[in-house]
Amino acid sequence: MKTSEWVKSIVKQDQIDKFLVNGKTFIDDEKINNNLQNNINPDKQQIRDIIQKSLEIKSLTPDETAALMHVKDEDLWQEINEAALAIKQKVYDNRIVFFAPLYCSNLCVNNCLYCGFRNENSKEVRRILTMDEIRKETEVVLDQGHKRLIMVYGEHPKSDVDYMVDSIKSVYDVQRKAPVTGRTVGIRRVNINAAPMETSKLAKLKEAGIGTYQVFQETYHRETYEKVHPQHTLKGDYLWRLYALHRAFDAGIDDVAIGALFGLYNWQYDVMGLVYHAMDLERQFGVGPHTVSFPRITPALESQLDSSHMVSDNNFKKLVAVLRLALPYPGMIVTCRETPEMKREVIKLGCTQTDASTKIGIGAYQEHETIQDLEKAQFSIGDNRSLDENIKELAQMGFISSFCTAGYRCGRTGDTIMGMLKHCVEGKYCKLNAVLTFREYLDDYASPETRAIGLKVLEQEMNAIEGTSFFQKNAKIMNQFKLDYGRICNGDRDIYI
Ligand code: SAM
Ligand code: SF4
Repeated sequence: MKTSEWVKSIVKQDQIDKFLVNGKTFIDDEKINNNLQNNINPDKQQIRDIIQKSLEIKSLTPDETAALMHVKDEDLWQEINEAALAIKQKVYDNRIVFFAPLYCSNLCVNNCLYCGFRNENSKEVRRILTMDEIRKETEVVLDQGHKRLIMVYGEHPKSDVDYMVDSIKSVYDVQRKAPVTGRTVGIRRVNINAAPMETSKLAKLKEAGIGTYQVFQETYHRETYEKVHPQHTLKGDYLWRLYALHRAFDAGIDDVAIGALFGLYNWQYDVMGLVYHAMDLERQFGVGPHTVSFPRITPALESQLDSSHMVSDNNFKKLVAVLRLALPYPGMIVTCRETPEMKREVIKLGCTQTDASTKIGIGAYQEHETIQDLEKAQFSIGDNRSLDENIKELAQMGFISSFCTAGYRCGRTGDTIMGMLKHCVEGKYCKLNAVLTFREYLDDYASPETRAIGLKVLEQEMNAIEGTSFFQKNAKIMNQFKLDYGRICNGDRDIYI
């Protein structure tokens, strides 16, 4: 099939229309502007009531979210920031989950003005990885100690769903011996960041064993969306993208991930868009997003974007804290687009996941590129540190690094996991699995310095677990955990609760 015919075959209008309510979408521009306008001067007590509601792990309404974003008083921001961390601790405990991205192809039919992969960027060196190359990339990532990957693709007939399925299988096939102990390990969870698809293709991804399906709306502001995604391109169809994750639920994928690319339009508007998106998923499927992402635009080769909506560091921190309060359950992802300093800041505002030792060039892991080469990458990144350096720093801050992938492998996905998160139970299981997987990392991959600091954190964690009333009341889980921990220390691998 010619590329132009393939492009025409992608969008299925009936798979948009079925989710509309009276022909309308969940993004109502007038409503969002009213939410923002009507809450321009919130009073102190109102904000404290909103904070209290979040601390009870209840999602905020759009008006409440808008009110938080209009706080001017620095002391109140301090209270919001403290609440953001407290909510994260309550729902997710003090763990940070690590993953690595694997960029498979930079062939793309679209022309998003901000992206180095866009079709009209003739300076980009184009490449699509073979299955052999994907296995080699996976080996390098595994050797660093990762257990979770997010696979990323441009939108192109050569990287359509069958290529994705083959690439997922190739990743799951790879087994490596851990450098220190020689134990055999493989990638345990493959997530996907790929363009919107029809339901039958999404069902194939589910069948191939993906964990989360992630699509960023980029901006919820339709006029801006249509400006930065030229209308003659596939990605120009705003609604096809807006309902990508609704179709994923329809296809049986349990965990979906929303996101907005901050810097395209007013940041407050896009925070509202994320909140409305989460609300509509919850309304239509009874379960919200598994994670929320809030990447900020970074420089890309031949980017054609104007910088009028770039988000300052200060506003970025505000949007992260507000999202944490507005949506207390989803995981929140900060990526290596941000600098180490900024990552540190937003981890203290409730982020739960991050990437490390990241390379976003096609084939960049196996080629051991040290400098991010913009001609092969999608954009530039702000954090080039290794996984070991990240883990050491977090351990020094008192956080435990987790490689837990138990949730989706034992059915704690979709509404099951959301229910557990809402009752602050999931965090308890994850804490145990975080300890088990952190110990694996420390024994198999860590530098001596990181191992020493990490073992101290683990000791504190074990004491905290023993002192938790939840575990004191659930002796069976506790005994199982102690048994499993002993087995991990003796060299068994991939044990989870
Ligand atoms: N082609 C698919 C798509 O557009 O959905 C795959 C994902 S794209 C390779 C991954 C994400 O990177 C995009 O959704 C966008 O939000 C983000 N991105 C693109 N250009 C960027 C830039 N210059 N800075 C930061 N993030 C960028
Ligand atoms: Fe292609 Fe995605 Fe980049 Fe747009 S953001 S040009 S669709 S890879």
